[in-house]
Amino acid sequence: MAVDATGFDFETDVLVVGSGGGALTAAITAHVGGADVLTIEKSDQYGGTSAMSGGGIWIPASHYALAQGVEDSRDEALSYLQHVVGDRVDPKRLAAYVDEAPRMLKFMADNSRLEYSPVAYSDYYPEQPGGKQGYRTHEPVPMHARKLGKLFEKLRPQHRQTVVQGRFSMTMAEGRSFLTQADGWKTTLTKMMLGYYLDIPARLKGKRTRRLTLGNALIGRLMWTMQDRQMPLWLNTPFKELITDGDKVVGAVIEKDGTLMRIKARKGVIMGAGGFEHNQKLRERALPQPTSPEWSGSQENNTGDSIVAGEELGAATDLMDWAWWAPAIKVPGIDRPWVLFAERSSPGLVMVNKAGRRFSNEAAPYLDNGHALYSNDDDAPSVPAYIVFDATFRKKYPLGPLPPGYAGPDATLPRKVKEILSIADTVEELADKIGVDKAGWVETIAKNNDYAASGQDPDFHRGESFYDQYYGDQRHGPNKCIAPIKDGPFYAVPVYPGDIGTKGGLLVDDKARVLRTDGSVIDGLYAIGNTSASVMGTTYPGAGVTIGPAMTFGYVAANDLTGRNG
Ligand SMILES: Cc1cc2nc3c(=O)[nH]c(=O)nc-3n(C[C@H](O)[C@H](O)[C@H](O)COP(=O)(O)OP(=O)(O)OC[C@H]3O[C@@H](n4cnc5c(N)ncnc54)[C@H](O)[C@@H]3O)c2cc1C
Repeated sequence: MAVDATGFDFETDVLVVGSGGGALTAAITAHVGGADVLTIEKSDQYGGTSAMSGGGIWIPASHYALAQGVEDSRDEALSYLQHVVGDRVDPKRLAAYVDEAPRMLKFMADNSRLEYSPVAYSDYYPEQPGGKQGYRTHEPVPMHARKLGKLFEKLRPQHRQTVVQGRFSMTMAEGRSFLTQADGWKTTLTKMMLGYYLDIPARLKGKRTRRLTLGNALIGRLMWTMQDRQMPLWLNTPFKELITDGDKVVGAVIEKDGTLMRIKARKGVIMGAGGFEHNQKLRERALPQPTSPEWSGSQENNTGDSIVAGEELGAATDLMDWAWWAPAIKVPGIDRPWVLFAERSSPGLVMVNKAGRRFSNEAAPYLDNGHALYSNDDDAPSVPAYIVFDATFRKKYPLGPLPPGYAGPDATLPRKVKEILSIADTVEELADKIGVDKAGWVETIAKNNDYAASGQDPDFHRGESFYDQYYGDQRHGPNKCIAPIKDGPFYAVPVYPGDIGTKGGLLVDDKARVLRTDGSVIDGLYAIGNTSASVMGTTYPGAGVTIGPAMTFGYVAANDLTGRNG
């Protein structure tokens, strides 16, 4: 409920709620624009899911890429988004993204410690008009944790799936070389391990690496900038309610170390407090069923607080029935699931429903494959679905919590992981163990093995797109993503419709200003990241389209508030 504007405990120009990539970019941009900025974070750690993530951002025609000779343009990028996203989103927002994203990145390169480099990561639909096979996704340049001093301790750690054996941090390029077993991957791994063990001061203290990559490099670099600029960030400080004066938002009630405080935000409030993926009630209200925060790879603080506050003020919402879907493997007793971004492209697995039938292209972009667990055309239940593979796959490739067998044989797997893994000597026996229809299942395996020989998947076109092949086994043929399933023992793991955050939230305009249901602007209130309804509509055009827009519209919102000419 919004409360009235009388009596404040603290004043600032701009109040930023949350400390993910979008929120900190907004805070820094507003500060460079001459504003006093207060950033508040609910948790005792900063960085949100952004810190745990790949830190990738999808920025077409960036100054980094153009300087390397990459051919890309605003028009190609806009055409691509128009084809992939379609008319589900206001075209002005799409155009604003294409225009402002490269500006944001240049601005941050010039005014902060942020450094990114373009990577050869394919767009997710490279065959669409304007699609590219690489260099729109950018990853943060690694940094050393010593730059953060004591603040390093409060940086939210990476998701465990992005840290090899819980120790060795990797870049996106390194991760891909391990998965696809590209030339030189063993040397890369050895160097990475040596670097870790030779950091003696850190090894004497504990397991956590000081080589920050991915989301930790993104948030580390933003925090390093905030430290340079002496900008305050209050941890353990949840936002509670908005304060209004007439129709305008002029501040917020927050709770600092257990005490309620009224903060005046002279210019406005930017909400970057994530989505509602950890709020079971909201999930049940809005998302397809069954649903559970247990299947979300995000961290636990994103409970939709700022979305609810906006709604109470009359804000419109959109896309509330969508998440950034991704199939996920949940190990009971371990706090977050493994999100299957890439492993589904490795050859030698199939994903089947209760009838033992495939229902989707396993190597498709994770949003499509994850959503297919709810929306496929087959009438048999697929929550959970099962990923099935044989001994050859198990030996060669990782899959969620399972390291490749050469590095982690069955006998060495943690007990909790063994609990979700079904193993049998024959495919028939495996069908009985996991309770899928045996006849359908045997037929699926036979078809898969035919497709492996021909290299063609007439059912779901697996391995046809350049994107599918990106994470396929580069040395396998004729199709990098399909191999026979024939060598016992045979394995199955349950897979759920997971997510890496929700997609729906407050409806905003091309300046990230929150809109009422009648389309008018709520003065003084901005929403970015997963607090806002995604500019990508119901789609996932490329790696980095959650954090890229969060940062871009954080930058746009801050410029709008300070009057700085972006
Ligand atoms: C393993 C993994 C890898 C991923 N890789 C990528 C990638 O490479 N590129 C990409 O684009 N996306 C990636 N994602 C998705 C991406 O991380 C999220 O979609 C994105 O970080 C969401 O950003 P946000 O700013 O909306 O939320 P967050 O980064 O989660 O930040 C929200 C912050 O707000 C705080 N908060 C919540 N409520 C309140 C409150 N009431 N008061 C104050 N603070 C509050 C939270 O504690 C949190 O710190 C990945 C996700 C996962 C799990």
